[in-house]
Amino acid sequence: MKILCVLYDDPKDGMPKNYPLSELPELKKYPDGMTLPTPKAIDFTPGELLGCVSGELGLRKFLEERGHTLVITSDKDGDNSVAAKEIVDADVVISQPFWPFYLTRELIEKARNLKLAITAGIGSDHVDLQAAMDNKVDVVEVTYCNSISVSEHIVMMILSMVRDYHNQHAIAKSGGWNIADAVQRSYDVEGMHIGTVAAGRIGLSALRKMKPFETHLHYFDRHRLPESIEKELDLTFHESVESMVAVCDVVTINCPLHPETENMFDKELIGKMKKGAYLINTARGKICNREAIADALKSGQLSGYAGDVWFPQPAPNDHVWRTMPNHGMTPHTSGTSLSAQARYAAGTREILECFFDDVPIRAQYLIVQNGELAGAGAHSYSKGTATSGSEEAERYKK
Ligand code: NDP
Repeated sequence: MKILCVLYDDPKDGMPKNYPLSELPELKKYPDGMTLPTPKAIDFTPGELLGCVSGELGLRKFLEERGHTLVITSDKDGDNSVAAKEIVDADVVISQPFWPFYLTRELIEKARNLKLAITAGIGSDHVDLQAAMDNKVDVVEVTYCNSISVSEHIVMMILSMVRDYHNQHAIAKSGGWNIADAVQRSYDVEGMHIGTVAAGRIGLSALRKMKPFETHLHYFDRHRLPESIEKELDLTFHESVESMVAVCDVVTINCPLHPETENMFDKELIGKMKKGAYLINTARGKICNREAIADALKSGQLSGYAGDVWFPQPAPNDHVWRTMPNHGMTPHTSGTSLSAQARYAAGTREILECFFDDVPIRAQYLIVQNGELAGAGAHSYSKGTATSGSEEAERYKK
């Protein structure tokens, strides 16, 4: 079989010769008891770069020993890209949300051999899921592999935005000491109302992590959490997102991108937020309206916006989120720490082993199967597509 794997570029100075830590902490289970990926073997060293082209997700030896062909590229956008050409006869495609290979309907229809699209990570919105269903291409992701990584990033972003860390760090780096400049936008998180849109794996973990800061916690979700968890965290459930954002100082977005959530934070919803609130989005860029976010930061309706997700990715160099005031954006990194890479590389291998050996893939990993939303996909996604406009990614210049 032919496996096409689209990965991000290597570090500019080449692959690292050594890493800050010599080993990763050992984890056996995720917080809800689900086991970490269980491939029969791995051919990589956990803690090393795996998500870039030379890292190969640690898959080459395994695939070539089984007689498969592995094609790896970072060239993914536009009709003339290597990925667009190679997908035509590929059986399996692997892509990471950080550097998403947008599998549009057009590409899926061209890929006559395609049976399986693997997201090495979580969030399969870069695949036109409706086209995958229509063309009987299964879609899977490595559920839970980086949910905790993202919730750590959320905590970092809430604290850094509310306390105004970026500004203070810039002052220190530039040799300055004007304390008044450093604190004129700096607050304590203690006592604030923090709300999550979606209390799934990431959203719930973010709530749990914010609890010790003596905050008031809120959530909005399509399904309600067990009463025991609501009690444990003293959580306020909201029937609508409007009701929640009206009372929160900080809102964090943690739902998948699908037709129901696309453009959820538009001018109207942002206008219903508490004046001067902070918005943290590590879910997907398209859940927020690009211009409405920039306008709200300019007007002061939002005090800050931070996240690591953009649309499209890579974001064009002139994307307004790169230059809007009071933002704390990073490139899409939260789910691809070296720790997370080891888990999703192992999860990708587990999925491939199942696929080749005709063993069922864990239901938790399924998004689309046999032409229908399945497993985690049936629970968290809705039918349709959210890939339109992705061709703009071609405008990014390295
Ligand atoms: P989960 O499936 O555990 O949680 C998703 C939650 O979103 C579920 O509770 C689901 O609710 C809820 N949801 C879905 N649609 C809606 C809606 N319309 N309104 C309110 N809630 C909704 O996934 P994770 O928490 O692990 O990940 C969530 C998302 O975070 C991913 O899909 C991905 O987009 C993003 N992500 C980002 C990463 C990064 O690196 N920045 C890395 C990993 C994930 P229910 O099931 O109750 O319907």
